[in-house]
Amino acid sequence: MAEQTAPQDPQVQTLQQKLDALNRLVEVSLVMNSTLLLQPLLQYIMEASTEITGAQAASILLMDKNTHELRFAASIGSDAEGLAGITVPLEGSIAGAIIKESKALVIDDAKIDPRHYSDVDRKIAFETRSIMGVPMRIKDRLIGVLEVLNKCEGTFGEDDTRHITILASQAAVAIENAQLLSALNKAYDELSKLDKLKSDFIAIASHELRTPLGVILGYATFLKDEAEGEAVEHADILLRSAVQLRNLIENMTNLRYLQISDAELTITPVVLDSVLSTARASVIALAEARDQELAFEPPPSSLIVRADGELMVMALTSVLNNAIKFTSPGGKITLSVEKRASEAWVRVADNGIGIPKEQLEPIFDRFYQVEDHLRRREGGLGLGLAIAKAVVERQNGRIWAESPGTDKGSTFILAIPLA
Ligand code: ADP
Repeated sequence: MAEQTAPQDPQVQTLQQKLDALNRLVEVSLVMNSTLLLQPLLQYIMEASTEITGAQAASILLMDKNTHELRFAASIGSDAEGLAGITVPLEGSIAGAIIKESKALVIDDAKIDPRHYSDVDRKIAFETRSIMGVPMRIKDRLIGVLEVLNKCEGTFGEDDTRHITILASQAAVAIENAQLLSALNKAYDELSKLDKLKSDFIAIASHELRTPLGVILGYATFLKDEAEGEAVEHADILLRSAVQLRNLIENMTNLRYLQISDAELTITPVVLDSVLSTARASVIALAEARDQELAFEPPPSSLIVRADGELMVMALTSVLNNAIKFTSPGGKITLSVEKRASEAWVRVADNGIGIPKEQLEPIFDRFYQVEDHLRRREGGLGLGLAIAKAVVERQNGRIWAESPGTDKGSTFILAIPLA
């Protein structure tokens, strides 16, 4: 047999209703914290508004910043689709009066209220009997109105106004969040476009610079070979400057590798010796021109690593170029390899100007250069190591520098996973 429930004391019933309303308000807060999607949130707030106040319908009207009219942004209980495009003037409407007076209004009989804008009812074939509306604010700015229509039993009371005021402020917060999010997304899109523009420009400019520079380098080498007397030194300066320019352009071209994605890498088993000899071959002339010895100590047996061969050559060439650049003429650079657990450690050691301890990490940051005249004299963009680190780490490797200090030489280690 079904259990008989005793008729409830009216006081208990009122308390229960208040408790239900509070629970619903708390629920709205929880939902607001869990999503940033505006439309479902407003819809949820509309549902809560009709439920808590026992109204037939609810709507949110927002101020249009251009026309200064109110526009339906969300509604429930009437013709939501029909309302979507409709605007309501500030003059001659209850919503407009709420905005202008900046306070809640309760209209028990809309039909006899001269402010009631009956056009909306006509357009969506709805009959508005009673209205309660409250203004919505973001900080001090009035942004719209939340209205509930046609209380099913009795008239809208103070409790209803209090509850709808809370819901209106929650709706205003949701709208503000959505506006902030969309402003943030817009700014992010603009930044991405600018960043792409910058990268495209650098890519095109560096590519276009390469061709004429190739010609300059070719003729400068030719001139140097042919020159006699004083002209030898002039041709030498010309050649050195052209080489310096080529390195700068190379770094510009390689800038895109700072953001290289996994999809752009071709990781395969690579014979490490071939990486080392290709990188070495590309800098040997430079070392010889500076009267430096570039020693090579290969491992006892050939090692196979998992890497993108071309990018590994690029990273290693960059480190070798630095070793040559920051070591005096007549110095020595040693390229060696050691097998360490599941990695191959490639070492580039020089007996050059060294690196102060506190700079061993920052030198891998973009545009970072150790500030002293010896190094600045060499020029550069401070990008080579940042690019090398980006590509080595993308290949699951590591790169770091060691140095006992200024004038005591430096060693760069590239740890590459073995295949
Ligand atoms: P740059 O184009 O200036 O050489 P890098 O990113 O390649 O840029 O290097 C950053 C800085 O690290 C250099 O400017 C230099 O101060 C320091 N550095 C790099 N390699 C060496 C080295 N082998 N010996 C001494 N200092 C070095």
